[in-house]
Amino acid sequence: MEHLINPRVTDIQISGIRKISNLVSQYNDAVTLTIGQPDFPTPEHILRAGERAIAEHRTTYTPNPGLPELRQAASQFVEKKYGLRYGGTDEIIVTAGASQALDITLRTILTEGSEVILPGPIYPGYEPLVKLCGGVPVYADTRRTGFKLTAELLEPLLTVRTRAVLLCYPSNPTGRVLAEDELKGIADLLVSRNVFVISDEIYSELIYDGEHRSIAALPGMRDKTIVINGLSKSHSMTGWRIGFTLAPAYLTQHMVKVHQYNVTCASSISQYAAIEALTAGIDDALPMKAEYIKRRDFVYERLTSMGFELDKPEGAFYLFPSIERFGLSSMEFTLKLLETEKVAVVPGDAFSEYGEGFIRISYAYSVDNLEKAMERLERFVGRL
Ligand code: PMP
Repeated sequence: MEHLINPRVTDIQISGIRKISNLVSQYNDAVTLTIGQPDFPTPEHILRAGERAIAEHRTTYTPNPGLPELRQAASQFVEKKYGLRYGGTDEIIVTAGASQALDITLRTILTEGSEVILPGPIYPGYEPLVKLCGGVPVYADTRRTGFKLTAELLEPLLTVRTRAVLLCYPSNPTGRVLAEDELKGIADLLVSRNVFVISDEIYSELIYDGEHRSIAALPGMRDKTIVINGLSKSHSMTGWRIGFTLAPAYLTQHMVKVHQYNVTCASSISQYAAIEALTAGIDDALPMKAEYIKRRDFVYERLTSMGFELDKPEGAFYLFPSIERFGLSSMEFTLKLLETEKVAVVPGDAFSEYGEGFIRISYAYSVDNLEKAMERLERFVGRL
């Protein structure tokens, strides 16, 4: 009967990140630098808000697009932080994490054969969702532009079938960020085209040099942009599953139908906790950020002193050094490092073929772990 399963589903591969995580579980003394989730606990006051919601039986369905108070809080949060203006009643949907926000966005705008431009290397969560919609991922190779999408890279890829350009800055896996003039270059190209921009800004609170800028804030772009954000990274709330979409009302009214028939609403308990996060906890990311900066600087210094080539990332919690000079594929390098020194990283090809020649190191781990991993990595590359 397996042949009767939807081929779009059978064709999907498990992510390269999972493959490595599964292998690591076979080594009990491995130092793991693979995971893309903050290593801080959810702030106490947010935990308490979740507990109160349970104790007070606020455990029923909420309106499909989310609690009005939460949408208002999200509206105020993004305005205060990033200058984005979205109405809390008709332009915001609260979702089960940024993942579901992406899914409803793509299902609302894609049809069979729609092309979605992805700057590679990129987070592996997008391509399968595009394909499930019958869409076609089209990659821009950003390896020669410091992992930044530019108007020059983008223009030749635009066709009549292009339905959306996906931006993920700060980037998973590279940690790179687009400065305002770089975003403007892309906006100037797209403003007059019939193309949507999906801007995944889940790492917007984790920017270490400068301020977060959203393409949706640039002239003419709001009407064609869907911003994806959420609390997984900013408030260390990955398991609470709270994300949101910010999109003009003409789009949101359709996205909410997909959302409604998909999950009805995000968890009510998590939504109450999220109100606390976006009101009393608007600066909860700051102490984490201070710690991430220390770790980034430490790992960056160690890597460059070992001879790795990389630009210093400005955001998220990843470094993406080149391993090209060792003459191994990213998977060979990763497996050898795991077998001989018991350090787990993610091979760059997990982030599309445009990540080949690189590895991803997450620094969402304690300094102790990072120190141990860097010592082992140094020994490893010394022998290559
Ligand atoms: N987008 C990017 C770029 C991510 O790195 C992640 C999580 N690793 C997500 C979306 C999904 O976030 P969530 O947990 O809120 O679904």
